[in-house]
Amino acid sequence: MKKTAKMSVEVVTDIVCDKCGESLVPEIQKDSQENLNGFADFGVLKASFGYGSGRDGESFHFDLCETCFMELVNKVMNRR
Ligand SMILES: [Zn+2]
Repeated sequence: MKKTAKMSVEVVTDIVCDKCGESLVPEIQKDSQENLNGFADFGVLKASFGYGSGRDGESFHFDLCETCFMELVNKVMNRR
């Protein structure tokens, strides 16, 4: 016998770019996946600043589409 319980579980239903607001998930994946908890095909920019830094305790997390991520990469790479 299977015992069951109704549970409310929070699942990822979409992931959008923090810069331009576009969805990071191809439509076909949204249709075929039950949830997007494991979806990881996008750029992530993370930083956390520690003790002694000017931004002590602050942390940042940005999910970015390929276009916005590459804009950022190009900015960093083109510095003089
Ligand atoms: Zn974007």
